[in-house]
Amino acid sequence: MSSKKFVGAHVSASGGVFNAVANAQKIGARAFALFTKNQKRWEAKPLDTLTIDKFKKALDESGILPCHILPHDSYLINLGHPDEQKLIKSRMAFIDELERCGQLGLDRLNFHPGSHLREISEDECIEKISESINIALDKTSGVKAVIENTAGQGSNLGYKFEQLAQIIDKVEDKSRVGVCIDTCHMFVAGYDIRTRETYDKTWDSFSDIVGFEYLMGMHINDSKPPLGSKKDRHHSLGEGEIGLDAFKYIMNDDRMDNIPLILETIDDSIWKQEIELLYSFQV
Ligand SMILES: [Zn+2]
Ligand SMILES: [Zn+2]
Repeated sequence: MSSKKFVGAHVSASGGVFNAVANAQKIGARAFALFTKNQKRWEAKPLDTLTIDKFKKALDESGILPCHILPHDSYLINLGHPDEQKLIKSRMAFIDELERCGQLGLDRLNFHPGSHLREISEDECIEKISESINIALDKTSGVKAVIENTAGQGSNLGYKFEQLAQIIDKVEDKSRVGVCIDTCHMFVAGYDIRTRETYDKTWDSFSDIVGFEYLMGMHINDSKPPLGSKKDRHHSLGEGEIGLDAFKYIMNDDRMDNIPLILETIDDSIWKQEIELLYSFQV
């Protein structure tokens, strides 16, 4: 396939990270996301040599490139935690996640920026997030920290392009930071992409405020809740409030070439069809 679009889904790595590769291949994916450890637990045993070798061999055989894989970190990590001890715990876990990606030969790690838990201001929380990234990048090498935009649910930061830019602004090594834009999160955070006009306006604003040089991946999801609702509920493509046009624009937008485009839609039994559908949009 000569398409410059690399579409896949967040597949299961249960039984071992190498299983993610087979799960991606089963649905015809050219990209994928995975958790390199149980996402709901702090502790994980280190990756052993056999597991690492099996992953690399499977990947090699699949033809999927490391730069089209977007690992996601644990949901427990909060790099902007108001409590010092819990912040330290999150930072250590984040460093471990970056190291695991490095061991697997992967070059980017997707994470949610952090939450202020209504205990500190947004600005203070953003300071902590940037500092966390600086510490983690300093202690690791080769893997980029890829900040995901959020829905803005609860006290989660990163729902405005300005907040992503503010975090990046204070990161010392800009060559190792990027962003992942989730279409559902963007939409419920108030960025419309449903028509040609709104799509262009939203991405122009992204270009001005963040910049496409930082775009290292996308999450391709429709949304159950409406525009601006700040509720994080994904839906299958075309079933939700966004509708299919936005995804047609994305598949024909060369600013999204050569990055992982990852489905996190709710019905994994139709991921294969959703991937085919997305490729069919290319003109
Ligand atoms: Zn996402
Ligand atoms: Zn989400």
